[in-house]
Amino acid sequence: MDIHEYQAKEILAGFGVPVPRGGLAYSPEQAGYRARELGGDAWVVKAQIHSGGRGEAGGVKLCRSEEEVRDYAASLFGKSLVTKQTGAAGKDVYRVWVEGASDIRQELYLGFVLDRKTERIMIVASGHGGMEIEDLAEEDPESLRRMVIDPAVGLAEYQARELAFQLGLSGGQIAQMVGILRACYRAYRDLDAMMVEINPLVITGTGELVALDAKMSFDTNALYRRPDVAALRDPSQEDARESVAADNGLAYVGLDGDIGCIINGAGLAMATMDMIKLAGGEPANFLDIGGGASPERVCTAFRTVLSDPNVSVVLVNIFAGINRCDWIAEGVIKAYRELGLSLPVVVRLAGTNVEAGRKLLNASGLPIVAADTLAEAADAAVAARPDTPKAA
Ligand code: ADP
Ligand code: MG
Repeated sequence: MDIHEYQAKEILAGFGVPVPRGGLAYSPEQAGYRARELGGDAWVVKAQIHSGGRGEAGGVKLCRSEEEVRDYAASLFGKSLVTKQTGAAGKDVYRVWVEGASDIRQELYLGFVLDRKTERIMIVASGHGGMEIEDLAEEDPESLRRMVIDPAVGLAEYQARELAFQLGLSGGQIAQMVGILRACYRAYRDLDAMMVEINPLVITGTGELVALDAKMSFDTNALYRRPDVAALRDPSQEDARESVAADNGLAYVGLDGDIGCIINGAGLAMATMDMIKLAGGEPANFLDIGGGASPERVCTAFRTVLSDPNVSVVLVNIFAGINRCDWIAEGVIKAYRELGLSLPVVVRLAGTNVEAGRKLLNASGLPIVAADTLAEAADAAVAARPDTPKAA
């Protein structure tokens, strides 16, 4: 789960990371008021969306008067901001963050990520920050420093100092950097984060280290024990289809194709998507209906899949172990009746109560295309697409 910059800054500040003073605004007037409250003569107004690359996309602006703050904020609210990371639809701006402008002498990059190879938290840092890490890795890979943290020891002070040296820091900045590194590590570990990124971490004109941007992402599997973190979720920043699915206990990821998929098990779902591609089609989504799916849950899965207007055929592929094919069949029939389905549905059932499931589908009289194997199901789904040329 991602959170906003202002939320990440508040969390990190609580662990001791220096951040600029700032305030949140939900309207242009409030943004102007925030600027006055902060004082000074230069502010940076920043669109709060779950994405980086806002600077380049026109979502971050240096303003020199209260009016400018207000006008710029007015131009952001209710707009969808398209960045390199959001996709073409962009993300809607409902909040802006106003903070005092910093005098930047140098921009550094600092990231804490989970390194799957070593199964440990890894720090990635560069003395050359500001741009996205992907671009940095391409343009200046030499500048990237990596350090893996031993979970039994934590981030040792000497390690943090070594990294500060590698980044070319000296004098009092080394102690500041050590403090920031240790604070980020504690925040990462104590809050079950998956990622902490400060980009840029700047050195100001007076030689202070300050986090001008912050990003945190959390392990959703651990949210049950972090209610304070879970409360930071902002559904307006999520794919609407995915949040509805998550609320109903379905694992759903929207894709670009037109064959809607309702499958049990992540592995079978991946395999089915591969088979669809092999058969010449494109899946519209990944959906894992999970184990023990009731007819109601099957119906909700249909509703989720059909909320994507690109879907032209639905493929149900169930290998029932914990699931029951008769319940799945009941769910398909229920979906037909309740949702008034008019598009073709291909169903492949195997496993527990498969005979009962098939009988129900046959007896229903509904125009369901039955398939016995995964390959047959994928071929049938592709053939059932309205765009597929029909054999004479
Ligand atoms: P994003 O990563 O989404 O583009 P950032 O918060 O990193 O957004 O802002 C983009 C750039 O704007 C930063 O690299 C920095 O140069 C500048 N910037 C951001 N906040 C401030 C600030 N408080 N004072 C001065 N410049 C800032
Ligand atoms: Mg940034």
